Amino acid sequence: MLRAFAVSRWWEDPYSLGAWSGLRVGAGPEVRAQLGQPVSPRLMLAGEYTNPEQAGMTHGAFEEGVRAARAMIAAGHRRVAVVGAGFAGLGAGATLAAAGVEVVVLEGRDRIGGRVHTSALGETPVELGANWLQQGARNPLRKMAGETGLDMIETDFHEPLDLGPPSRMAGPECGAMADGFRRWLAGMTGPDRSMAQAVADWMGRADLRDRAAMQAMVDFEIQLDSGIPLADMSARHSWEPGVGAGDAWLPGGYGQLQQMLARGLDIRLGAEVTVITERGGEVRLMGPMVDVSADAAVVCVPAAVLRAGRVAFDPPLPDAHQQALSLLETGRVEKVALEFDKRWWPVSPSGYLRMAGPEPGMVAEWLDMSDVAGRPVITGIFAGDWAARIWMGRDDAAIAQAATEALKAAIAASALD
Ligand SMILES: Cc1cc2nc3c(=O)[nH]c(=O)nc-3n(C[C@H](O)[C@H](O)[C@H](O)COP(=O)(O)OP(=O)(O)OC[C@H]3O[C@@H](n4cnc5c(N)ncnc54)[C@H](O)[C@@H]3O)c2cc1C
Repeated sequence: MLRAFAVSRWWEDPYSLGAWSGLRVGAGPEVRAQLGQPVSPRLMLAGEYTNPEQAGMTHGAFEEGVRAARAMIAAGHRRVAVVGAGFAGLGAGATLAAAGVEVVVLEGRDRIGGRVHTSALGETPVELGANWLQQGARNPLRKMAGETGLDMIETDFHEPLDLGPPSRMAGPECGAMADGFRRWLAGMTGPDRSMAQAVADWMGRADLRDRAAMQAMVDFEIQLDSGIPLADMSARHSWEPGVGAGDAWLPGGYGQLQQMLARGLDIRLGAEVTVITERGGEVRLMGPMVDVSADAAVVCVPAAVLRAGRVAFDPPLPDAHQQALSLLETGRVEKVALEFDKRWWPVSPSGYLRMAGPEPGMVAEWLDMSDVAGRPVITGIFAGDWAARIWMGRDDAAIAQAATEALKAAIAASALD
C-alpha cells in the first residue's frame, strides 16, 4: 500500500521551466562559454548552463557562481546583488561575502535551493531535484560534504537491476556500445545534425539484433540523461559528460550543503526579479516585491527562465548572449518519491534500478532508499515523453499512482521471457 509520496513539477514551475540545459543542433560548449562572458562590467550571468565542462550539474552551477563572484571582486565592486539562490547563486553569494563584499541574494521562491529540493516522507529526506554529487574528485561540493563530515553513499551506475521487457534493456554491453557511439559521433564530419538523425544513421549500419540493444542504450544513456527530444539535440555536442564516475548521494539531504553556503547571507525570499536596468554606474533590480540597487549583479536564474523572457533587461542582453541563449534547450525530467508499507520490488545490490516502459524512448530509473531509510522508500526519475505522459493533467496522488503502476508493469514484463 502506498503510504506517502512527493512529486516534482519542474516543467511547469515558472522558476525552473524544465530540468537542465542541453545544446541544440549547431551549438557546442562555446555557447555556454559565451553566456558566461560578462554582459557588461557590472552584470554577469551564471548557472549550470554557463559551464562549458560541467553543464547540467550542481557543482557546475556552483563553480560558475564562484567564478562570476570572483570577477566582481576583481572589478572592485563593493555592493553586489545576486538573483537566484540555487547552487550558482549561493556559490556567488558565499564567495562575495567571504571577500567582505556587501551582498544581497534575491530569490523568487519561498525557499532556497532551486533545482535542488530536499523534501521529506515522514522522517526520510527525499530529493525532488538533484540527487547525486557527480564526477567524484572533480566535484568541489563533494569535497565540502567530505570535509564537513556529511554521510555519503556511493551508487554504482554500472550495476543496475534492469526492469522491463528484456528486448528493451541495454544489457551488459551497454557501456561498450555507448563508448562506440561516442567515438563515432566524435569522428563525424560535415555540419552538425540532430541526435535523432545521428542515431538513425548509426543504426542503419547495424543488424537487427544490435539495433534493439542500441535503441536501449540511446534511451538509457542519452534520452534519460537530458529529457530533450533527440530531434532538437546536437549530435556532436549535446551528449555531455556527467553521470557515472564516482557518484554519491547524501542520505541527510542535498539541502544540507545549501544550508551551509547560505549561512550568514542576506537572502530575501519571495523576491522575484522581473526587470534589471543598468544606468549611471548602478544596477537596479525590480519585481513585484523588490526594488534593490547595487554596484553590480550576478544573475543566477535558469536559462529557460531567461529564454522565456521572464526577466527583462534594459539595455537588452547583447546580441551574442541572446544568440547563445537561443541555442540552448531545457529538458523535461521529473521525480517521484514513494513510501509503501512493505518493499514489493526486487532488491538491487547497488540500490539502482533501470526501467524500460512499453515503448522505445520510455525509460526511468529508481533509487531504492529502503535499507538506508529503514522504511520502504523508493524515488523514481522519468524523462522526456514518458514524464510528459505521466505528469500531464494529473494531480500528485494520480502521478504517484501512475508511477507505481509503471514500476509494477515493468517488473511483470521482466518476468515474461
Ligand atoms: C529532476 C532533476 C534531477 C537532477 N539530478 C541531478 C543530479 O543527480 N546531480 C547533479 O549534479 N545535478 C542534477 N540536476 C541538475 C541540477 O539540479 C542543476 O544543474 C543545478 O541545481 C542548477 O543550479 P543553478 O543555480 O544553475 O539553477 P537553480 O538551482 O535552478 O537556481 C536558480 C534559482 O533562481 C530562482 N529564480 C528563478 N527565476 C527568478 C527570478 N525571476 N527572480 C528571482 N529568483 C529567480 C529559482 O527559484 C532558483 O532558486 C537535476 C535536476 C533535476 C531537475
